Order: sequence, then structure tokens, then C-alpha cells
Amino acid sequence: MIDCSKTANYFAEKQRMTKKHKLNGGAYICELNCANCPLNSLNNGTNDKISCSDFETLYPEKAVKAVQKWSDEHPQTTYLSEFLKNYPNAPLDDEGTPKGVCPHTLGLMDIDNCDDNCIKCWNQPIDGGEE
Ligand SMILES: [Zn+2]
Repeated sequence: MIDCSKTANYFAEKQRMTKKHKLNGGAYICELNCANCPLNSLNNGTNDKISCSDFETLYPEKAVKAVQKWSDEHPQTTYLSEFLKNYPNAPLDDEGTPKGVCPHTLGLMDIDNCDDNCIKCWNQPIDGGEE
């Protein structure tokens, strides 16, 4: 579970939720329809007709809670989650990673300073694997 009360996590998860991206004109727009967005006044638990950025400013705890809920309901597909889907009975070490195996040793070179702290390698998201 990702702790969205940490600022960096909050923004990363909000980005994953809204899929905000840059248009050709330079403006930013969310791919997520506002009507479906947990931060929208329809869904955020307040009756204030305010924008999502005003909601964050005025109700930071509620904004964190909304993103946290979404994050919990939409866990990122990682090498670890996929592995455990296929090998649910694999022996795990203290960090919850498969014993003695690291994606790095299997040829995944995304993290080049792998220091046997393999949770970093295992927790990398798999693009497009989102459900
Ligand atoms: Zn590693």
C-alpha cells in the first residue's frame, strides 16, 4: 500500500489517477473525466461547488483520503504482484520478496545500482499492466 499522506506519493498517485497530460497547445488536461474523479465536488464528500485544486487547498486531509482510497483500490501492477500471481506459494524473505531471486539477475536492467535490496527491483511498476 502506498502512503498518500507523503507529499511525493500523493502527487504521484494523483497523477496516476487523473492521467493529467499536456496538450499540443501547452495546456494540461486530465484524462479522467471530472464526473468520475474522486476530487470532484460531486464525489469528494463536500457540498462545496469548488474546483479540485481549491478542494485540495481547503480540505487537504479529505483530498489525501480520496487519493488514498483510489490508490488502495487500484494497486499498481509490479513485477512482484505479477510474480506472486503466478507463484503464490513461492518462499519469501523478510521484505516479502522471493527468496534469492531479483529481477535484476534475470536481466531487468532498469535499476543499475541494485544492491541486493531487491524490493526496489521487484516494486517497479509494469507499464500497461493496470487493471
Ligand atoms: Zn535487485
